[in-house]
Amino acid sequence: MHILIGENRLELTIGDITKEKTEAIVNAANGSLMGGGGVDGAIHQAAGPELLQACRTIRKQQLKGEPLGTGEAVITAGYHLPASYVIHTVGPIWDDHHPNQDKQLASCYLHALKLAQEHHLSSIAFPSISTGVYRFPIKLAAEIAIRTVTNYLQTATFGQVKIVLFSEADFRVYQSALKHITDSL
Ligand code: ADP
Repeated sequence: MHILIGENRLELTIGDITKEKTEAIVNAANGSLMGGGGVDGAIHQAAGPELLQACRTIRKQQLKGEPLGTGEAVITAGYHLPASYVIHTVGPIWDDHHPNQDKQLASCYLHALKLAQEHHLSSIAFPSISTGVYRFPIKLAAEIAIRTVTNYLQTATFGQVKIVLFSEADFRVYQSALKHITDSL
């Protein structure tokens, strides 16, 4: 399913993000940038060892050895992936409900979109950030993701944004969030 927002297209699909042919795919990384499970592991596996090396260089040079902060984003090449770039962002870990976590999740989407635009990219694919191991409730995460992306696309000329869901059930949650939000636009 997709909607048009100005000259931009927002699309929801079911699939494996490592197969996406958008210019950039987003990785739901952890602060270490050293890989992990879930989508992070799948992206590193498909991109090859060069991706880990690029992440090491970013940790050392750009981040001065510090971990990447929650809600922040950095960009690397995509190496063996069909996507030319990977934008790594760190979602919040769900911990009861601290309102700051909503802002941090929104920041992931916003910073990734801004970084893509700074690199003159016009297509990007996101996974459902924080809703796996980080346990963010998917209904709330979907609303935050879609609201942040639609708000951004209302003010920018970007191109194509895809949200790639890993299951039919996740897709349905995002689909109803999209309907709910577009009804109110
Ligand atoms: P987080 O630590 O941010 O919660 P996870 O990787 O555990 O990240 O999960 C984020 C979402 O990514 C989950 O919905 C999970 O099902 C999904 N996911 C896992 N592998 C893939 C993949 N190859 N493509 C797209 N989504 C994936």
